[in-house]
Amino acid sequence: MTCSDFLKELTDYLDESMDAQTRAELEDHLQWCHNCYVVCNTTKMTIEIYRDSHLYELPDELRGRLRSAIMSKCKGHEGPCT
Ligand SMILES: [Zn+2]
Repeated sequence: MTCSDFLKELTDYLDESMDAQTRAELEDHLQWCHNCYVVCNTTKMTIEIYRDSHLYELPDELRGRLRSAIMSKCKGHEGPCT
């Protein structure tokens, strides 16, 4: 799994709406990729804050915004994401 694969699946991973196989692959990626680990934690916190103060379902609009924020963050650092 590459970093862009990881980022594509990240919101589903955090939403817990993914199958065990893909989840295991993502967790494996997190073991060795510090960049994605940081992005994952940051995104998870954002979602938790959102859930605490609003609804339990992430609207598509927020998912889209999160995803593009993640993607631009990924492009901003030097690493395997390019
Ligand atoms: Zn990665």
